[in-house]
Order: sequence, then structure tokens, then C-alpha cells
Amino acid sequence: MPLHTRMLVGFLVGAGAGIAANVFAVDAGWLNALIGYVTDPVGQLFLRLLFMLVIPLVFSALVLGVVEIGDPRALGRIGGKTLVWILVVTACAVTIGLVAVNLLKPGQGLPPEVGQQLLAEASERAGEIAARREDISGIAILLNIVPRNPVAAAANGDLIAVMFFALMFGIAATVVRSEGTRSFVGAVQGVYDICLKLIGWVIQLAPYAVAALLFSITAKLGFDVLVQLARYVGTVVLALAIHFFVVFPLLLRAFGGMSPLAFFRGAEPALLTAFSTSSSSATLPTTLAVTEERLGVPRRVARFVCTLGATANMNGTALFEGVTVLFLAQFFGVELTLLQQVMILALCILGAVGAAGVPGGSLPVIAMILAMFGIPPEGIGLILGVDRFLDMCRTVVNVGGDMVGSVVIARSEARAEELQEVA
Ligand code: ASP
Repeated sequence: MPLHTRMLVGFLVGAGAGIAANVFAVDAGWLNALIGYVTDPVGQLFLRLLFMLVIPLVFSALVLGVVEIGDPRALGRIGGKTLVWILVVTACAVTIGLVAVNLLKPGQGLPPEVGQQLLAEASERAGEIAARREDISGIAILLNIVPRNPVAAAANGDLIAVMFFALMFGIAATVVRSEGTRSFVGAVQGVYDICLKLIGWVIQLAPYAVAALLFSITAKLGFDVLVQLARYVGTVVLALAIHFFVVFPLLLRAFGGMSPLAFFRGAEPALLTAFSTSSSSATLPTTLAVTEERLGVPRRVARFVCTLGATANMNGTALFEGVTVLFLAQFFGVELTLLQQVMILALCILGAVGAAGVPGGSLPVIAMILAMFGIPPEGIGLILGVDRFLDMCRTVVNVGGDMVGSVVIARSEARAEELQEVA
């Protein structure tokens, strides 16, 4: 059986068994033991193995991406296209989310008693998240892109700073054409190849890990909380689905020259990994492999766009931030003017660029936006119970957006090259 089919089987088995366990055996001793000693550790092991590869992969992929693009004009062109893509498509995602909340008004559907109870249950963790909220006033975000110490940035998992360092390194390596730089680039190529080999091995674990991760989540979560917050969950999922199943196919047809069906089929292993890990960074190794091998995107474009995109291009996260902020405003009865909503749109785009590609990476950003508009940041407590599920869904959209972006940019690069040849 091919790997992606085995992953799909693992997915269905894990989710099915988890839901059954939640319905028939919730809180049973054996179930807790099974989760604590088997499925949680297997899932965590897989996540750790993936995270272990992220820093060397991001560094080597970006250095090589820049060196392979070579010509500074081409680099500027691809960089510019990537930036425009991120801003425009993310803005489109947030707009879909904001329109959906304004039309469906999920925040007005929740009975206040249920809300208070959910808030109280989760208030401790909510306070913790609110305390971690990040400063997303423009200047701090911009300054933080430049690491004071690249090794510390890598140790703290600060990927944007690592990317900045790698981009600078790559640019300098294209400019200096010495014996030393050539052998350095050769060594970086070695690091990249070794990472890909390791990923190939780790990915063999995916079917089991996907089953374990989904079992743990569904057995713990069940449907109860989802039902309590049904209108909110429904709004997020509907808006994400519109972006994923309507906007992406339109973009693929209009600018990517690829049939959406072929895209979804090819992208499946990365989408399944995103759904089960809730982390764009942990999915990056799979995203890169899939984009090059199954979607046929040239390496230099895939490396550049997917690697940057894993942290900076988060369509699903931006949409989710917008919906959640407005949902909580509705719940707490805070009126927001159109202008304030436009500001929220801009903050959600920035927030999605700044959010880390890890499970729950966007929660501190949301706490920050809430505080800015006078909405109690503890409101996050309300949504914590369902966040894991929504995180899985939005991460799929995040990773999907990176792959659609690389298909589209690869096509437009091929055109630009043709034109150059003709000229
Ligand atoms: N889990 C998301 C990701 O990695 C980030 C977030 O929205 O929390 O893409």
C-alpha cells in the first residue's frame, strides 16, 4: 500500500477508535493508561522527530534556495511575488472569516451560563496565554526579524529570525565566488540531502503516529464541547472550507494551470500530516517533499516559498484570528465599528505572519488583539476546549496555502523565463 493510503487508513482508524472510546469508555482506567502510555508517547515521538529536523532544514533549504535562484533580479522577483501572495491571499482569508461572523453572529448564540462555565473551567490556562501575549505593534515585529544571536534564535525556535539569517547567508554566498564558498554550499547541500533522507525514515512512522495522535485527541475531546460551541465551530469551519475548497481551486485554475483535483490528490500526505500534527513547522519536511515530488514544483521555488510560507503564510490562522476576535466581541457585547474591523483585518494578517507554526501558535496573538480592543483576553478560555480541533483544520489551510502559492509562483516564474529566452 502506498504511504499516503496507509496514512489515510491510520487517520480513519485513529479517529474512529478515539470517538468510540470517548462515547463508551470515557474516564475508564484502561483508556487513560492507553492514552498516557501508548498513544500520547507515540504521537509525541513523531512530533519530536519532525521538530528535530526543522532548524537544519529551514537553514539549508533557504540558503540553497537563494543560491540556486542565483541572479539577484530573479531573487527579488520571486521574493516580491511571495510577499504579494502572502498579503493578498491572507487578506482574502480574513475577509471571508469576518463576513461569516458578521452574517452568522455565533457570539450571540451562546447562552451566557454556558459561556461563564466554560470561562471558569479554562480561566487558569487562559490567564497563562494572556500573559504570554506577544507585542505585535509593528516596530517590535520588524525588529525581531533580525536576530541578535542566530544560535540563540535557533535554540529558541525563533524561525523568522533564523530565516532572516539564512537569507542573508545565501545572498552573500551568491556574491562571493571563492573556493571556500563553493565548498560551504556543497556542505549545506549535504545537510539538506541528509535531512531529506532522515525525513524519509521518519515519515515511515506517519501512519502509526497519525492514528495515535488522532486517537488521543478524539478520545479526550469527544463531541460535548464541540456541541456547546457549535455555532462558533461551525462558523470557523465553514469559512475555512470556503477558502480551501473555493478560493484555492479558483487560484489554481486562474494562475497555477493545475486542476484542483490533481492538486488535492498530490498534496494529500502533507494535508494529512498538517491535520494530525496541528503544526506547519512540523509539517514542513513533508510539505517540501510533496511539493517537489508530487506537485512537480521546481526545487528552487518550492524550497523558497514553502520554507518561508511555513511561518509567514498562514491563511487559516489569519481567518481563525478574525473570527475569534469578533466572536468574543459579540459574546461580551463589545460593539466594533467598521473601521475597527478593518484594523482587526490588518492585525490578523500581521498576527498570522508573526504566529509560530506550532500547535496553538496563534493564541497569544489573539490575546493581544483582544486586549487592544477592550475585549477581556480571558475570553480565550471560552474557546480552549475546541481549539485543538480548530487548530487541526486551520493548519491544513495554512499548509495548503503554501503549496498553492508555490504552484502559482512556479508557473509565473516559468513564464518569466520563457519571456526572457524569447527576448
Ligand atoms: N497551529 C498553526 C500552525 O502551525 C498555528 C496556529 O494557528 O495556532 O500552522
